[in-house]
Amino acid sequence: MLLQLQKDILYGPVNSRRYGRSLGINLMPTKKKLCSFNCVYCHYGTTKRCTMNIDQYSDELPELDKVVKKLEKKLQTDLELDLITFSGNGEPTLYPEFADLVEAVAELRGKYRPEAKVALLSNSTGLIYGDVEESLDMIDLPILKLDGGNEQTFRAINRPTRSVKFEEVFEKLFSLDGIYIQTVFVDGQPSNIAKTDLDDYIECVARIKPQEVHLYSIDRPVPNARISLVTPEKLEKIAGKITKETGVSARAFYD
Ligand code: SF4
Repeated sequence: MLLQLQKDILYGPVNSRRYGRSLGINLMPTKKKLCSFNCVYCHYGTTKRCTMNIDQYSDELPELDKVVKKLEKKLQTDLELDLITFSGNGEPTLYPEFADLVEAVAELRGKYRPEAKVALLSNSTGLIYGDVEESLDMIDLPILKLDGGNEQTFRAINRPTRSVKFEEVFEKLFSLDGIYIQTVFVDGQPSNIAKTDLDDYIECVARIKPQEVHLYSIDRPVPNARISLVTPEKLEKIAGKITKETGVSARAFYD
């Protein structure tokens, strides 16, 4: 079974393999996924609305005030959490008021849960907007996707909407400091673990110099039946190679 779309603005806390109890914030509609990518492994299924322009869906997006009120109410309870994470039914940085919302969430965190971290799970495409990029300064854990180090692999695995430019996404990643890279490796058709793919990927990691690299593979059904998981042993091997060749800490996560 694919994952059900999140049915509300807030969800969880879910236990993340890396960070503990994470309260999710979903800024996308509850009845459809809106994303600029259509990743072959997306646990929410195929992106039927694959776009950078979500203006036409504005009626279905949660209002900023509503998000803030819901979060404030939740943070006033005794709910245990380690992390407040922008994620949900698609790409959070496409939300039109993303930067304002990050500011509001950071304030609420400071007021009610100073020990919790604010995280973002993103495919980076919204960072072409200056205010979205600036808002990363208020996010403790900006976790950005990198599934391949060349255009061919990027297009095969992430299947972005036409207006997403490979060069723009990669140049943006190269220009950012203090980010975390999250990668999903898959085998089959398509795959991103051939030697040339890994060489290009490791070269990108060396240029980005992230704080850390987190490696995953698929762990539940995915929309594309021709891909298969990369074993924990293989993930560990890739992690070791990344660390050895780039000096960046790389960790593999699996159940
Ligand atoms: S970027 Fe995330 S939400 Fe969008 S298709 Fe890929 S995995 Fe799914």
